[in-house]
Amino acid sequence: MAPSPLPVSRPALLTALVMLILLVGARPASGADGWVWPLSPAPDVSRPFEAPLDRYAAGHRGADLVGTPGASVVAVAGGVVRHVGTVAGVAVVSVDHGGEISTYQPVSGEVRVGERVSAGDRLGRLLLVGSHCAPRACLHLGRRIGEDYADPLALIGRTAAIRLFTPTGALPSPPVDLGPTGSGALGVPAPGPVTSSFGMRVHPVTGVLKLHDGMDVGAPCGTPVRAAADGTVVGRTAHPAYGNRVVVSHGGGLTTSYNHLSRFDVADGTRVRRGQLLGAVGTTGLSTGCHLHFMVVRDGSPVDPATYL
Ligand SMILES: [Zn+2]
Ligand SMILES: [Zn+2]
Repeated sequence: MAPSPLPVSRPALLTALVMLILLVGARPASGADGWVWPLSPAPDVSRPFEAPLDRYAAGHRGADLVGTPGASVVAVAGGVVRHVGTVAGVAVVSVDHGGEISTYQPVSGEVRVGERVSAGDRLGRLLLVGSHCAPRACLHLGRRIGEDYADPLALIGRTAAIRLFTPTGALPSPPVDLGPTGSGALGVPAPGPVTSSFGMRVHPVTGVLKLHDGMDVGAPCGTPVRAAADGTVVGRTAHPAYGNRVVVSHGGGLTTSYNHLSRFDVADGTRVRRGQLLGAVGTTGLSTGCHLHFMVVRDGSPVDPATYL
């Protein structure tokens, strides 16, 4: 008896093989070595990545890098150009690194979709229109893994501490050196007992089991909230879940945030000292009562604030 034929036709097999080669070929040669800066010289960071609470929540899904209009924007790693054009009115270029995608905006692209690029290859020019740092120019660099966004700076320049820069503010200071954890490196932002610590819990409002990404300090509404360390205010927003929040960047990939506030006492871009008044305890956003939800974010991921107090 003759052997039964393969269940897959020869053209289909060939197509699968070619696709496999393309996929493997699209991976950057130095994927494990991280990304190179898309601007040169190594830019200052005007706003770090802020992980959104969920896929659709507000946040900052990338990092803003200070640049000059017309500056060359280069690929952070080898890959294939996936998009060149406008998204919601903003000029965007994206590169597929075989699993992860880097996005660059606002950038007028000088490459074609499907073109293969190496790390450091020019993608286009930085634009002013659509800048997240208007009236200054900056490059919003995004890093996407599937539908999720990750911190692009976690892959770049980790050997050197990231220096934060505010276009309108004072000169940046060196990053806060946290030293060993539990060392009191961060100051207690508000007086009161810890009513819920960092970790997995059932959310008191939504009833869903998920990470409680900060520490709750029980204090009456109106209690002063103070900066845990020297830094720069890089966010002062009304968030659907976190409520009124102040985000302070301390350099070196470290930010703290102060959530559910009833009042703001600082402006965006303000240089603050440890202990400086930021606002007051409140119950704005998804909250069951007056308390401070204090968060520490390191390289884009929330960490337990208790280890730094
Ligand atoms: Zn941005
Ligand atoms: Zn909380």
